[in-house]
Amino acid sequence: MLATRLVILGKQGAGKGTQAIRLSQHFRVPRISTGDMFRMFVKGDSEIGRRAKKYMESGDLVPDEVVNEMVRERLVELDASEHGFVMEGFPRNVAQADALDDMLSPHPVDLVIELDVPTGVVMRRLASRRVCTVCGLNYSVDAPPKKNWTCDACGGDVVQREDDTEAVISRRLDQYDKQTAPLVAWYLATDRLAAVDGEGDPDTVTRRLLRAIESRLARR
Ligand code: AMP
Repeated sequence: MLATRLVILGKQGAGKGTQAIRLSQHFRVPRISTGDMFRMFVKGDSEIGRRAKKYMESGDLVPDEVVNEMVRERLVELDASEHGFVMEGFPRNVAQADALDDMLSPHPVDLVIELDVPTGVVMRRLASRRVCTVCGLNYSVDAPPKKNWTCDACGGDVVQREDDTEAVISRRLDQYDKQTAPLVAWYLATDRLAAVDGEGDPDTVTRRLLRAIESRLARR
């Protein structure tokens, strides 16, 4: 069977995490989230975690060499190298996108999806977002877990992320505009991009994503 290699781009709060979990279940491939990996490393107080923490707290990007090395090591693991992946939060700039092409050579990504949601909508979503500290599943104050802020899927604690404060959110959105948005043109120019409307309920967005991905995979 062919591996399926997908990347989801989008502003913070666009729904990347939620949709990446669903797509990874659908295609039976691992979800690779650099944000989640960093949060685990910070929690475990490892070397990478200690290097990343100050950048994460201020909403800045962790230096490329730290991120690239972490992703390179993850991609050689058997699940990803044999079956593919749904990647989210990486690449965040052109240097990382270049590094990703290099890591994947000679099997490039099948499709890069831009999950498109207006800034006003993501600001509202982020202010009410709550996240499982164990599996990364997203909730909100309007749609909480069934009991006591413990995750319905894995029982982990569901909390507000430390970087989901107004000041840090606006810094992260600014970084997205400056560093990550140019990637859309970069992938478009090499015919690897599909833009998908990320507004609406999660099931509708998943259906849109699957339509875009299936039509691309059919061309392989
Ligand atoms: P996220 O959960 O994707 O919003 O990531 C949370 C934080 O982790 C970001 O604000 C960055 O500080 C850091 N981070 C995650 N992915 C990357 C990346 N690809 N490059 C640099 N920093 C990253």
